[in-house]
Amino acid sequence: MPEGPEIRLAADRIAKVLVGQPLEEVWFAFPQLKAAEARLTGACVTAIDTRGKAMLTRFDTGLSLYSHNQLYGRWYTSKRGRWPATTRSLRVALHTPSHSALLYSASDVALLDAAAEREHAFLNRLGPDLLDSKLDADTLTARLQDQRFAGRSLASLYLDQGFLAGLGNYLRSEILFLSGLAPDARPRDCSESQLMQLASDTLLLGWRSYRTRGITLDQPTLEGLPRRPGGRRNRFWVFARAGQRCYRCGSKIEKEVRGSRRLYRCSTCQPSMPRLSKVRP
Ligand SMILES: [Zn+2]
Repeated sequence: MPEGPEIRLAADRIAKVLVGQPLEEVWFAFPQLKAAEARLTGACVTAIDTRGKAMLTRFDTGLSLYSHNQLYGRWYTSKRGRWPATTRSLRVALHTPSHSALLYSASDVALLDAAAEREHAFLNRLGPDLLDSKLDADTLTARLQDQRFAGRSLASLYLDQGFLAGLGNYLRSEILFLSGLAPDARPRDCSESQLMQLASDTLLLGWRSYRTRGITLDQPTLEGLPRRPGGRRNRFWVFARAGQRCYRCGSKIEKEVRGSRRLYRCSTCQPSMPRLSKVRP
């Protein structure tokens, strides 16, 4: 499933073709949205916002199109009249005079006014957004120390959209590696400086993945690595590298599966920590 940075990149792509352009044609596959097609024709898209893995297409009528791609949904952009070669089923089509933004396969789509957005069950449960430019490391450190989260394992927290929206599977492994923290560690087992490091690494990798389209390695490490067979790019410190050598210490990367999600770790760089029974003073 795409994570926050990939959803934001998709939003940027859609914004490029839609924002500021009048919609000439609007089409929904969902019967409950059919009546809105005429209302939105002629409207302008003012922004494409993201909240974690959800996207909000804002119209100048005050309505917003909420979409969550889950596992299968995918947005395409194209020149008007050129349809992507895909066997997926079309769910939403927004056409300007020159371009189209097309959503395929997603089923979680709704049209919301401001009040419905405030009351939306999924949006309401989301924590702050990983790519919110106002989110800083101090705020995130305080959130890690919050009693709602401090007693949970980092492996569980770092997939929880209620803790931080936009986190996902590769970011979880990569952030914990960079911070040198074991997946089983809980915030309450960590020192304040470890938590501050974790918070700043979380923001660093979220923004780096957005800028680099999903590469979490830093530039010097990336440049020092040999090319992979088949021209595939090196992307990650540990994710999807089971059995290979850690770039920092040479130990073998381990893989485990928790709740059907893959987790990768270097046990040397991310040693297990003693569990504390109380919050540190
Ligand atoms: Zn290592």
